[in-house]
Amino acid sequence: MVAELSTLRDQIDEVDKQMVALLARRLALVEEVGHVKSQHGLPIYAPDREAAMLVSRRQEAADQGVPPDLIEDILRRTMRESYASENDSGFKCLKPELRPIVVVGGHGQLGRLFCRLFELSGYQVRTLGSQDWDKADELLKDAGMVVVTVPIHLTEQVIRRLPKLPDDCILADLTSIKSGPVQAMLEAHQGPVVGLHPMFGPDISSLAKQVVVYCDGRNPESYQWLLEQIQIWGASLNRISAIEHDQGMTLIQALRHFTSFVYGVHLAEEDPRLDQLLSLSSPIYRLELAMVGRLFAQDGQLYADIIMSSPQNLAMIKRFHQRFGDAIAILENKDKAAFKQAFDQVESWFGDYAGRFLKESQSLLRQANDATHRG
Ligand code: NAD
Repeated sequence: MVAELSTLRDQIDEVDKQMVALLARRLALVEEVGHVKSQHGLPIYAPDREAAMLVSRRQEAADQGVPPDLIEDILRRTMRESYASENDSGFKCLKPELRPIVVVGGHGQLGRLFCRLFELSGYQVRTLGSQDWDKADELLKDAGMVVVTVPIHLTEQVIRRLPKLPDDCILADLTSIKSGPVQAMLEAHQGPVVGLHPMFGPDISSLAKQVVVYCDGRNPESYQWLLEQIQIWGASLNRISAIEHDQGMTLIQALRHFTSFVYGVHLAEEDPRLDQLLSLSSPIYRLELAMVGRLFAQDGQLYADIIMSSPQNLAMIKRFHQRFGDAIAILENKDKAAFKQAFDQVESWFGDYAGRFLKESQSLLRQANDATHRG
């Protein structure tokens, strides 16, 4: 019996070794693909090719009795690894004749990421940090593009402080809010202006599958190459007006970060033992705790700036507070019928999305569970 088990385990070890060897071969091929793509200026993320490839592999897996979700998980994880390594091949430079790019706030978290991306694409990059304003005229006088990426509350004053830039210089920013900074850039500079909002933090390994939102400011034809360059890095672009962007961010960022903040404050005040909570957690609670906890590993100033960036944010948060109160009244009245009625209304508002989100979250939870058990 034990000998039989041992033989089977040896065979499994052998298969696993072959899988490692196959993965090594796949990663090496992907590296070659990275070189070819960087020479020809092709984006590292090709959604159509990826989708078609997954459909075929799922079918082949099903034909051989392998669960299609299993092969999709393995391939998606492998591709994520590949996107990160494709970064290292460098990227084609779409505007080799561009004069230097000056990143104002380039020593910051997001600034460093963008400096690296521009450098990997062969641009000449200079940084203007908070101590460098005495050299600002020198650093900026021949700039081809200026990217402002400083804390939100300083952004507009930093833009106003810029000396006169060359007429054809592109002025861009990466700020998480858009109306104020884009307006300030249009007032400070007569040349091309574009507002960018990368919808990701500095901790990503590659831009593949990330989103960058942009707001046209002035002379869009002058910065199309920049938008294409960002796509070559793997991100997809979303064009929106600054006002609509800021309205969306009220829900997507301000309210969400605020509820996480309050949940964190509540936990700290209640002071439960975190290790015990974790040992009792279902994967979804652990994920929720992670979503809240990760906020407090970041910069409080950034989140204060985001949440307090516009009066609409406060108005939205107050409406949420009001609804929280209404929902508590249902509990106080022990009114299960009212609860159920509200529940059904929300369910029909979500419509088809409710089922879609259930499916999506199941796959996320499986991954969260794997990650937890990895230790
Ligand atoms: P950060 O604090 O890490 O970096 C800001 C940098 O600006 C620092 O190096 C700081 O020294 C520098 N700075 C401050 N005052 C300056 C001045 N007067 N002149 C020049 N440099 C100055 O902040 P961050 O997280 O990199 O955020 C920068 C911008 O990126 C913000 O506008 C933020 O909204 C946006 N953003 C951040 C994230 C994120 O997750 N971190 C995501 C999307 C957008």
